[in-house]
Amino acid sequence: MKKHWLRVALDVPLPGLFDYYHSEAVAIGTRVLVHFGRRQLIGMVIETPAQPEFQADQVKAVDMVLTDVAPMPSTWLDLARFAANYYQRPLGEVVMPVLPAPLRRPAAYTGKRAEGGPVARLRKRKKAAAKNIKAKAAPELNAEQQLAVDTIAAKSGAARYLLYGITGSGKTETYMQAALAVLAQGKQVLFMVPEINLTPQFEQTLRQRLVDAEGQPYQVAVMHSALADGKRLEAWLNVTEGAAQILLGTRMAIFAAMPQLGLIIVDEEHDNSYKQQDGLRYSARDLAIWRGQQLQIPVVLGSATPSLESWHHVQKGHYQLLTLSQRAKAVPLPTIQLVDTRRAQLDQGWSPQLIEALEQTLAAGKQSLIFINRRGYAPVLHCGSCGWLSQCPHCSAYAVLHKGYRHYMQCHHCGVQSPVAKHCPDCGNIDLKPLGKGTQRVEEYLAERFPQARLLRIDADSTRRKGSAEALFAQVHAGEVDILVGTQMVSKGHDFSNLALVGVLNADTMLFAQDFRAPERLFAQLMQVSGRAGRHHDEARVLIQTDYPDQAVYQALLKQDYELFAQHELVQRETVGLPPYAYLALITAEAKTIDQALAFLNTAKQWAQHPQMPGADRVFLYDAVPLRIVRVANIERAQLLIESQHRQALQVFLKTWGGQLDELAKHYRCKFTLEVDPQDI
Ligand code: ADP
Ligand code: ZN
Ligand code: ZN
Repeated sequence: MKKHWLRVALDVPLPGLFDYYHSEAVAIGTRVLVHFGRRQLIGMVIETPAQPEFQADQVKAVDMVLTDVAPMPSTWLDLARFAANYYQRPLGEVVMPVLPAPLRRPAAYTGKRAEGGPVARLRKRKKAAAKNIKAKAAPELNAEQQLAVDTIAAKSGAARYLLYGITGSGKTETYMQAALAVLAQGKQVLFMVPEINLTPQFEQTLRQRLVDAEGQPYQVAVMHSALADGKRLEAWLNVTEGAAQILLGTRMAIFAAMPQLGLIIVDEEHDNSYKQQDGLRYSARDLAIWRGQQLQIPVVLGSATPSLESWHHVQKGHYQLLTLSQRAKAVPLPTIQLVDTRRAQLDQGWSPQLIEALEQTLAAGKQSLIFINRRGYAPVLHCGSCGWLSQCPHCSAYAVLHKGYRHYMQCHHCGVQSPVAKHCPDCGNIDLKPLGKGTQRVEEYLAERFPQARLLRIDADSTRRKGSAEALFAQVHAGEVDILVGTQMVSKGHDFSNLALVGVLNADTMLFAQDFRAPERLFAQLMQVSGRAGRHHDEARVLIQTDYPDQAVYQALLKQDYELFAQHELVQRETVGLPPYAYLALITAEAKTIDQALAFLNTAKQWAQHPQMPGADRVFLYDAVPLRIVRVANIERAQLLIESQHRQALQVFLKTWGGQLDELAKHYRCKFTLEVDPQDI
């Protein structure tokens, strides 16, 4: 029997590919079921060499060649290879986890219940009747929108655009018309949004607006991590087989194979959610740019507050700037006002200005939003007589007080819940007081203060059940809510038609985070939450309570001037040599004790300084430091930041040096992650 050698990528934490063989030729990109140690796994054929790397007589045969879906195309494999290389992970950790779960689960193909596998089962199922959606006519574009659409449509080949437009300037409409031009050529469009809870609203818009010349709707597939396995598989098949022309998805959608892809749109491109925070720590926005180059197609990044990286690309001429400077409807921007809390007579942290604005808005029958980026009732419980604080026993953080049908303390870092102390564990004092406030306490205060108002709270706690976020947002849209209290969940994308007031509490806590991107994030977040107000009416107001109204970020907010802010920040970044003027990588080490974690990083740093280390002369390593929250779930953490002026040098260095760290980590009993272009530092 002739043996056809295969090199297979498996999702195991080991570098490299694995040798197998089959009696017949297998195409690259095909999935195979194999034995790996004692386990059965599904992997992907990456190479078909003449000889195995491993000793030939020890190489095992594959158990099954899976042909239920076509082999993954070579352009897709190139994308996966690039991502694996760039983010320094084994290829198997890219190609397998990005597939829908049923396609990588051995149990789905073996045993009695396999019935030909998940794909066969799905195809047997009757198709649900397509939803009947009324198409909406396109509004006439204004001159800036038209220019943007024409510019995107005019060029063929790779092109990168930054669509920079204030909230309500009609970016979505611009995406739609650009998409229509591409769809009309028989091509597919990938439309990415940062958050799952934005997909229903966009799905509706896409279905209403993307209709061909005969009035037939284009097919839309949706992909995000909250979809049931079957649904995700169905969406995946629809786009890879070309039955759907449009894919709407969160960051994972960047890994969908789309045979006719002709345009990628990344909405709210500055959003942190495009960065995956575990496993393969990729940036879907950056991969979108790469994919556009690879496929020679346009990529449109859109934002009201572009990332400083993208803004810098515009300044260097890498991206073409398309500006929407006016609101699409004749509605003025909301006015932003800073309330200096050092000079106000506060009532439990509430300024009279904000209370009065709430009263007026209620009286006018309009909606208000109170934005506070902290859930729970109070961030800490405190004993006034001895100073005890509700420290989490497992973390260097406080346990947060939550109220509800049952009160409890919960640490937001390790998740552990405990009963609320009835008296101080140190001195016995029974009068323990909550310090500070979260969404629940805000809601409680408002209920007392405005008993007639209908309140609604939207945060991770109130939306835990599947579908509940959608239902809560629907209440707001239906006008059943007077005052909405919410975390960043409410700040993005939603178009609340009757919202006339936004009040911001505790913004300062975001300002003094140690991360160098803190001001950038605060600016984006507050501009975004401000943009929720007054999209359909005039005279909307935003009140931001702060102790530091003179800070540059607040002054730029006051003027609603992104460009002023970006210029200020970029000067600072350049002065100290931070992105976008430098490239970073971050190693985070975890161990039982901080000493182990630091010892590992310090030794790693010494290795880096070896004169023979490739790229070492062009990278700079900072000192290893404990994380601000050192201990989480009894694990202590430290990190080491690596910086270079040269992306390529950093890559070369990480390849060699990073490849040597596994052994070292074992020696110090550490786990570590290596992150390229880290977002949170
Ligand atoms: P953005 O995505 O920039 O926040 P949207 O695309 O949601 O803005 O547009 C804001 C509002 O203006 C929406 O209600 C949209 O239907 C409307 N709109 C967009 N373009 C136009 C236009 N050219 N004429 C009239 N209304 C428009
Ligand atoms: Zn006490
Ligand atoms: Zn904890």
